[in-house]
Amino acid sequence: MKKILVLFIALYLTVAVVYAENVVYNPNSKIYHKLNCYSAQICKNCIKIDKQEAIRRGGRSCKKCGG
Ligand SMILES: [Zn+2]
Repeated sequence: MKKILVLFIALYLTVAVVYAENVVYNPNSKIYHKLNCYSAQICKNCIKIDKQEAIRRGGRSCKKCGG
């Protein structure tokens, strides 16, 4: 029984890692970018956060890179 529990935890962690995607979020324009987007690299007030967190804060994906 314990082995099954461990297996489930391992599976959950794997899924969590896959879904945890970092984006560069601009709190002023509320637009988030992929890390390699040009707009993200020149953005001075941007912060690096989880994509889900950016969406939770009302963020929209960048039109150029698609977030
Ligand atoms: Zn972008």
